[in-house]
Amino acid sequence: MRIAMISEHASPLAVLGEEDAGGQNTHVAELAAALAGEGHDVRVYTRRDSPALPEYVASPDGYQVCHVPAGPAQRVPKDDLLPYMGEFGRWLADRWRGDWTPEVAHAHFWMSGLATVHAARRTGVPVVLTYHALGSVKRRHQGTKDTSPRRRIGYERALGRAVDRVIVQCADEMGELVRMGVPRSRMALVPSGVNESVFHPDGPVAPRDPARPRLLTVGRMVERKGFLDVVRALPAVPEAECAVVGGPAADLLPADAFARKLRAAAESCGVADRVKLVGGVPREEMGRWYRSADVLVAAPWYEPFGLTPLEAMACGVPVVGTNVGGIADTVVDGLTGDLVPPRDPRTLGVALRRLLADKVRRFAYATAALDRIRSRYSWKRCAEQLGAVYASVATLGRPAPAVA
Ligand code: UDP
Repeated sequence: MRIAMISEHASPLAVLGEEDAGGQNTHVAELAAALAGEGHDVRVYTRRDSPALPEYVASPDGYQVCHVPAGPAQRVPKDDLLPYMGEFGRWLADRWRGDWTPEVAHAHFWMSGLATVHAARRTGVPVVLTYHALGSVKRRHQGTKDTSPRRRIGYERALGRAVDRVIVQCADEMGELVRMGVPRSRMALVPSGVNESVFHPDGPVAPRDPARPRLLTVGRMVERKGFLDVVRALPAVPEAECAVVGGPAADLLPADAFARKLRAAAESCGVADRVKLVGGVPREEMGRWYRSADVLVAAPWYEPFGLTPLEAMACGVPVVGTNVGGIADTVVDGLTGDLVPPRDPRTLGVALRRLLADKVRRFAYATAALDRIRSRYSWKRCAEQLGAVYASVATLGRPAPAVA
């Protein structure tokens, strides 16, 4: 099939760890590669955010990346991109009326959804949408700190009714959308995959202190990832060290406001000597860090999907995670890891101490986690499931309207 993927701010070619570059970039890159691997003709459309970018780039993984000239050819925070989505959509419609018309367009994130619906209305191309994150959830947890455009929640609700299919990544997201009024019959549950050629149990291991068990926590240096809760749980786990991977590169950490806050919390809890702020590391090195850990701690306040527990599980590492969003689906409580309530350092500390004291249970969790990854979270399986959804909407056979 000819598949267009639209990811306005998150380029599959971006360097991870930069602002606004996280799970969505990885997801789009790996999904595009998996679909190309299944023999589909895939083009990913992302905003041209530097004058140096050519219009088309062939990725080494068999798909094309098209840089769409919408808005300034420079970095713009993703929350400020809304005014350019009409222009983005018109550009797509022009191209799709030309020599390459997709049979389906898969939009990632609500703003891409707006541009894609705009183009689809002019070309008759069926649209599938993955939200990746929902404004209603962000508003609930971040309140006045939420910098999303005011109209986001209303647009997300309208998009749920305008597109042909919504791909939800976890049961929690499905419930949230049903409460927003999106019909359940429009949704298909297809969780993200994990790259098993990058994340596997055998391979090099990051250096660690052999005398101490290692807890690892990974993510962008933002409050909602729950790193402060992990630090506050550490006094209950007296012997363990905790490595924190993510945020700016190590040499820039001293200037990072959140990293400073984390360090101050570690001092005041009396655990500063056991907290190691590693900084951001390239994706290719992430496997070394997961493999160095006895347990991955994923303690976000909320998490639309959460790739890091899956990546750890694929490396054979048990997870203690908060019972939120996608983590509540990926981690099976008492089988591949333990689930605890969010923002509760005391319960987190008890769970960590219990698991670190029980080698047999860690081994059983790791084995079950690997099984779960292999049977449910391969990119091949994800691409096959999405291929079936695309095929079902492509047969809707809507005639292209004759409007300009
Ligand atoms: N990651 C990375 N280097 C880092 C920290 C994170 O490559 O220093 C990757 C991590 O392996 C994962 C992604 O960034 O693939 C984070 O995705 P997740 O869904 O956990 O969080 P998001 O950033 O989307 O909120």
